[in-house]
Amino acid sequence: MTLADTRLATRTHAATPPSLRHGIHFLSIPGPSVTPQRVLAAMARAMPNIYEGDLVARSEGILAELPSIARTSGIPFIAVANGHGAWEMALTNTLSRGDKVLVLESGRFAVGWGEMAKVLGIEVEILNARPRRAVDPAAVEARLRADRAHEIKAVMVVQIDTASSVWNDIAAIRKAIDAAGHPALYMVDCIASLGCVPYEMDAWGVDVTVAGSQKGLMVPPGLGFCWAGPRAMEACRRADLRTGYWDWLARSTEGMHYLRYCGTPPVSHLFALREALDMIAEEGLENVWARHTALARAVRAAVAVWSTPGGLEFNVEEAAERSNAVTTVLTGGIDAARLRTVCEERAGLTLGIGLGTFEGRAFRIGHMGHLNPPMILGTLATIEAALIGMGAPIGGSGIAAAAISIAADLGTQAIGTGQVHGFNP
Ligand SMILES: *Cc1c(COP(=O)(O)O)cnc(C)c1O
Repeated sequence: MTLADTRLATRTHAATPPSLRHGIHFLSIPGPSVTPQRVLAAMARAMPNIYEGDLVARSEGILAELPSIARTSGIPFIAVANGHGAWEMALTNTLSRGDKVLVLESGRFAVGWGEMAKVLGIEVEILNARPRRAVDPAAVEARLRADRAHEIKAVMVVQIDTASSVWNDIAAIRKAIDAAGHPALYMVDCIASLGCVPYEMDAWGVDVTVAGSQKGLMVPPGLGFCWAGPRAMEACRRADLRTGYWDWLARSTEGMHYLRYCGTPPVSHLFALREALDMIAEEGLENVWARHTALARAVRAAVAVWSTPGGLEFNVEEAAERSNAVTTVLTGGIDAARLRTVCEERAGLTLGIGLGTFEGRAFRIGHMGHLNPPMILGTLATIEAALIGMGAPIGGSGIAAAAISIAADLGTQAIGTGQVHGFNP
């Protein structure tokens, strides 16, 4: 090697090659999800009259339509708030100081909701999760049976926990409550799951459903939702935690339309929500659920192949308890922070961080909302490229497995034998 060659080699090694990230940046975090262009465009409008005309009609239309999204005949409420605000709205309208609630842990979020309850003066008991598993309905039944005096006034759970990516069986927990013959209100956080996976508020006997705008509903953060069934509205009349702002009774009395929002409606967000609900209606809610199933299956197909001892693995142990909206991947000996940095800075893909106890030992792939195969396959392929680039151990290429999974859901008619030369997934 000549001196000139050596100099050249040193220089190419030392200089960082240009980043490949320029292009459409992919946000793969589990909320806020990708906001569709149609929804963003719908927000860019002049402020309307809030007392009469188009805005009022639009808002009434939205309130009339919202029950169908949660599959309920209950009353919908829209708060100018994020999910935490909707949590507080649900609590203050149904409970009184000193009441006791049972929080069903399955990750981070139900516990967080319980922490909000505690600050309000509610006594909180946590039914601990089985590690890396969904809530056990049998344990719920046993705890409620033991509460002979019916001190527990509400049972609180999330449908999908966004930190652990556990998917709880809401209908099975209802059955457990009924089997124990317990009258507690059943309150479900669907912030990460509504508009992603099947949810049947009335058929499953849920009294209060809580959601936010920025995940499956494809609207920027800023709207919190509650749906209240008849038992919840009855509890509302007795609840001494009710406050002026969140109060369901004041928000549902006849009068000026702005009372629905306890003040000026969040007009730009309502324009956005109208557009998002139109998109869901055009696709069909069941088709939205089916699309999430197909995309989640592709994610799981890739993660399953990547998994290897000492490397990546699913956080959720039971395959049936893995959610269709978010996947938490444990990183074992692989540096999770470095993986995310490589994806973000070198390739234009932002992955979700490990939350709470998962900090530094997991990443999350959000697969909720406005998402299709090129977006999810691009995400998976980019993660795989980063893993290979880092020299991380992986069990194999998950990309072919993800493509095969998507292929089965494309609904195409076969025109050949499907043989691909040199291809051995
Ligand atoms: C995102 C999320 C929340 C919190 O919502 P914010 O809008 O951030 O307040 C609560 N519960 C679940 C299940 C979530 O996914």
